[in-house]
Amino acid sequence: MPIPLNQQPRASLGYFPTPLIELTRLSRHLGGPRILMKRDDQTGLALGGNKTRKLEYLVGAALAQGCDTLITGGAAQSNHCRQTAAAAAASGLECHLVLGGEAPDMPGGNLLLDQLLGAQIHWSGELRKGERIPEIAAQLKAAGRKPYIVPYGGSNAVGALGYVNAAAELKSQLAEQNLSISHMVFASSSGGTHAGLIVGTHQFGLDCEVMGITIDKDEAGDGPYPEHLCQLANETSALLGSEYRYDQTAITLQDQFTGDGYGVVGELERHAIQLLATQEGILLDPVYTGRAMGGLLQLIDQGIFAKDETLLFWHTGGSPALFPYAASLTRRDR
Ligand SMILES: *Cc1c(COP(=O)(O)O)cnc(C)c1O
Repeated sequence: MPIPLNQQPRASLGYFPTPLIELTRLSRHLGGPRILMKRDDQTGLALGGNKTRKLEYLVGAALAQGCDTLITGGAAQSNHCRQTAAAAAASGLECHLVLGGEAPDMPGGNLLLDQLLGAQIHWSGELRKGERIPEIAAQLKAAGRKPYIVPYGGSNAVGALGYVNAAAELKSQLAEQNLSISHMVFASSSGGTHAGLIVGTHQFGLDCEVMGITIDKDEAGDGPYPEHLCQLANETSALLGSEYRYDQTAITLQDQFTGDGYGVVGELERHAIQLLATQEGILLDPVYTGRAMGGLLQLIDQGIFAKDETLLFWHTGGSPALFPYAASLTRRDR
């Protein structure tokens, strides 16, 4: 049943609005264009990140349905899983995480935080996209729990509402600061952020190009990623009671920066992480924002943007993963 955004069940999990800042030193270093950053790494929930916005609506739905347990899955260093564990703790829910890989001797980064936050972990070897969630959910039900399934990356129409709302938040910040942007650029992986921003910029009339940087070679969802994004945007539109449907022309993806695949750090990511750290004192992450910023820097270098344009980069979080990636972040051979 369609429900307007402001009537969708929502749990309060973070601190909003997140800061909107200008990267003056980086822009000057590059000789333009002007670059703004939306600090969704500062959402406040257990070291923050873009999943907080999605989880506000997902946990809202879970509580509205009387569920007592959240279950989700992802890679061992999933930011989404860490944020879900924190959201569950903050909401008095049990949390089960289905993680790719094997239990390490010493957990680090997000995995350490998952454990501190009290999540129960189910290891699933090669499967790092939550493929075993239905099986674990069935076991929980049989044991008398009421599990709520949070999809991989929190990316269904309910989760995408977080980024519909984020577009409205950004629009009013830009208006307050008398700014306008030509492009918004961000890491696009399971698609909830991207789909939400497509619907949000359209519904709230924030006029700019919505440009995702593909992070993962074999993306989430069944079938090609642009089609998955389009479908997710349309499900989100329908959930809000809009008749409007998007087609492929709404999707802009830069998919040439996936390097050696998901989570493999190369020179592109190392350079971007180091540049933002040394020019702005801002920490990116090795898997998502390092790659997306690396892609953006290359696009700027290629002259895709006019020097007098204003771009906005969404910092979607992820810095807890810097620590377990220490070896590849300090390597210099690739
Ligand atoms: C999950 C994640 C993304 C990608 O967002 P999607 O909505 O899955 O496309 C980007 N950056 C960080 C740090 C993330 O954890």
